[in-house]
Amino acid sequence: MKANRILIPLYLAMVCIAACQKDEPALAEQENPELQDSSRVMTDGNPGEAGVVKSAYLNGELVTYTDYNGEIVLEGDMILRDSMLSPSPMTTQTTGFKDRQWKNKTVYYDIAEELPDKYRVRNAIAHWEKHTPLRFVKRSNQRDYVHFVRGSGCSADLGHQGGRQVVKLARNCNTSTTIHEIGHAIGLLHEHTRTDQAEFVKIKWGNIQEDKKHNFRKWSHWNYNGFNMGQRMDFQSVMMYHSWSFAIDPSKPTLTRLDGSTFNGGSKLSEKDIATVKKMYANE
Ligand SMILES: [Zn+2]
Repeated sequence: MKANRILIPLYLAMVCIAACQKDEPALAEQENPELQDSSRVMTDGNPGEAGVVKSAYLNGELVTYTDYNGEIVLEGDMILRDSMLSPSPMTTQTTGFKDRQWKNKTVYYDIAEELPDKYRVRNAIAHWEKHTPLRFVKRSNQRDYVHFVRGSGCSADLGHQGGRQVVKLARNCNTSTTIHEIGHAIGLLHEHTRTDQAEFVKIKWGNIQEDKKHNFRKWSHWNYNGFNMGQRMDFQSVMMYHSWSFAIDPSKPTLTRLDGSTFNGGSKLSEKDIATVKKMYANE
């Protein structure tokens, strides 16, 4: 009896400590060192894996993607479902991503038990909720939700897809990367792929890894609503690649401004990112 009076509270305290460590709260943004510098870790969604480069139509537009044993990845980290693609342009409509948005500005989510450093997800969600009207709600029994899970790289299903969809985070995907991947989950595309790409950036094709060249493609239609809606390409966007993305020689850029200068890509939501998300979700 006496032993239990000591051991049981001790056991409960240990459980509490373990749970608290797993469930650490988000840091206030000013205390969050990951958002203070400009270093968003950008890695491939499937580093080191051999994939097959293929082409098909997505919403009526021909896209080139990589097939990693059935996982379809566009531009390095946007995961698509088979059902979103078509071998022919006639069988899909060019409707943009309007049907890929979350209803009532609400994203349900859960975090896999085994995901290390869960604070990355909490901090990224806190950042999204602070700056946009989107709300992230812990899933109870909702059918459609984002599952944050451990991955070999950093990647996310693009837009609302229905059912369980994933944001995959490797150990080195930091809070800024998680903000970027959540951007894909709510329907944002990469800023450098805008239709007017050539008016803002130069692509150094000779320094891009051969099987990654399609990651620098541009959309031929403007009716994808996942782009920044400003007039100018936004080099501060958290959805912008950095200048050394997929480089053969990492000391040299693959993407520069027209004047040859390099950029890092944003580490948090830019003003234009925020304006874009507000507009995209105004009627949801
Ligand atoms: Zn991305």
